[in-house]
Amino acid sequence: MVQNPFENALKQLDKASKIIHLDLKMHEGLKTPKRVLEVSVPVTMDNGEIKEFVAFRSQYNDALGPFKGGIRYHPGVNLDEVKALSFWMTMKCAVVGLPLGGGKGGIIVDPKTLSQGELERLSRGYIQAIYQYIGPTRDVPAPDVYTTPQIMGWMMDEYEKLVGEHAPGVITGKPICLGGSAGRGFATAQGGVYVTREAAKKLNWKPEETTVAIQGFGNAGSHMAKILAHLGYKIVAASDSKGGVQNVNGLDVLALEAHKEKTGSVLGFAGAEEITNESLLELSVHVLVPAALENVITSENAPRVKAKMIVELANGPVTPDADEILHANGVLFIPDILANAGGVTVSYFEQVQNAMNYYWEEKEVLEKLEKIMVTAFNAVWETKEKYQTDMRTAAFVRSVERVAEAMKARGGI
Ligand code: NAD
Repeated sequence: MVQNPFENALKQLDKASKIIHLDLKMHEGLKTPKRVLEVSVPVTMDNGEIKEFVAFRSQYNDALGPFKGGIRYHPGVNLDEVKALSFWMTMKCAVVGLPLGGGKGGIIVDPKTLSQGELERLSRGYIQAIYQYIGPTRDVPAPDVYTTPQIMGWMMDEYEKLVGEHAPGVITGKPICLGGSAGRGFATAQGGVYVTREAAKKLNWKPEETTVAIQGFGNAGSHMAKILAHLGYKIVAASDSKGGVQNVNGLDVLALEAHKEKTGSVLGFAGAEEITNESLLELSVHVLVPAALENVITSENAPRVKAKMIVELANGPVTPDADEILHANGVLFIPDILANAGGVTVSYFEQVQNAMNYYWEEKEVLEKLEKIMVTAFNAVWETKEKYQTDMRTAAFVRSVERVAEAMKARGGI
């Protein structure tokens, strides 16, 4: 059965709202995005033809602050996915206590088929189509799947040309030379590492005894692998869109990264067996890190998941019906809105630094990030204990409470 990510997101909202007896009007208000933009972006291709690309921006809720969320370039992008991701961004910013709302964008495109020039024209065209609706105090995009600091740089430049002033805070995840923050490149992974470490402490696991499998060796997944390996965790499997590799004695993560950079995939890495993406999810490991796309763990394969803990670096990798199965089987899952919130937290730091036009060193960024992630993890853990529920529901309870409080304080509901 094809999963609709937005329907799944609403199921999560319903579950949390029921626990806290959320006011009905407030609940209704949280079920739809405030604004959704669907635009067509014409791009002159290298062969002179003009091709139209369909693109979206969903601005879900801005009760706590400007909309905030990444832009995804992928052939599978669709409106329901973008809406779901913008809802999750709202919840994510709230759970870690940022003064930001939630948004998300996407373009239906396979960026691997475009030349650099075509990619730049597409990125600039997207900003031309939506620039009146974004801005440092309105809506602040960032990178997501298959979008990069370079793309953020082009987008910022296009926005500044259109508005006629410097406005680096319009977008985050920029190259450092254009006002990017130290640490932003690996912030999502670093945040994931902090919560993994805190959860492992609760379970009395020592890093060197803890095995980890990572699905999606991209920005988030490969950095998570490197930081965990550096701390002594054993990374036994990793994959990308072409397939995966496994070594029960632990993969040499730096060598794997070099191999992927050279060949474009983790496949063919010396000293490891090949495995499929499906079987990676069912490995007997302590920690499973889905770091690719959504809906990879469903009610179909959840009964076969043998990991003791799932750290969701990807957004929406586990479906609500799979949640029930995993929870019943005693799997501890750290939900996406908490586990991958390190990215948006350092994006927020990037905005703060852009507004001050004064920049922190990496050490300072990481200290601030650690404090926010550890505080949020412990708060969600306590909520889980209080309501005797799973970590996802506990995280949603905290974020729905916070967004609802802001909506109420604004009045009109
Ligand atoms: P990325 O493009 O750098 O990496 C994605 C990786 O997933 C690539 O290695 C790709 O080969 C792999 N992949 C694609 N399809 C796959 C499949 N079917 N099976 C297995 N692997 C597959 O993207 P990213 O920025 O690392 O984002 C990954 C996930 O993390 C997404 O869900 C994204 O929303 C989430 N996320 C990213 C950030 C961030 O700061 N980058 C922040 C929060 C959440």
